[in-house]
Amino acid sequence: MSLDFVALTLGPVETNAYLVANPATREAAVIDPAWDGHLILEQALARNWRITNIWLTHAHFDHFGGAAAVADATHPPPPVALHPEDYPLWRAGGGSRDFGFNFDPGPEPTIDFEHDQQLFLGDIELSVRYAPGHSPGHVMLYCQEAALLFCGDVIFSGSIGRTDLPRADYETLMESIREQVLSLPDDTRLLPGHGPETTVGQERQTNPFLQGLGEV
Ligand SMILES: [Zn+2]
Ligand SMILES: [Zn+2]
Repeated sequence: MSLDFVALTLGPVETNAYLVANPATREAAVIDPAWDGHLILEQALARNWRITNIWLTHAHFDHFGGAAAVADATHPPPPVALHPEDYPLWRAGGGSRDFGFNFDPGPEPTIDFEHDQQLFLGDIELSVRYAPGHSPGHVMLYCQEAALLFCGDVIFSGSIGRTDLPRADYETLMESIREQVLSLPDDTRLLPGHGPETTVGQERQTNPFLQGLGEV
């Protein structure tokens, strides 16, 4: 059996949270517990999945607003993983203060993501792809055997991540897309932090921001 997942669109800016699991061992992780943690827990409970990890693609508040509720209701509380370059952003509330939000960020990250790190749900492997630009410590999570890339706010259907935010950089983002997204096979499904899913091939051909980026 291969990686199974549930997508939920949650919170004030419609962020996609992904509950991913190994259906054989029932081990699950939440990629970006965006908001309303109880709704994520409900989905896990309905499938008898056990949440063992919280994985953050990056530390914008809308991607971990539900982490506290998930951690509080899970025993033992799942550790939170984040790339260290995004720790300052996490500590600053993920930019929430700029939006007038003040929320419980949940447990402090204790696992440092690094590029090429392997993650396991039972015998299903995912790997970390470091893709800065939208934020300095942004990562994407790739499951090669399932041909899935959980790409956070790096690339969207027909668009790319914002780079007008503090700590963001356009050239760095484009380099990340070229090296860490367009290097994957065309049939790789992209599960972004906002909006509908797409594929590498679809974006390579039609995403207006990628035209002229060149082959990898
Ligand atoms: Zn973001
Ligand atoms: Zn976002």
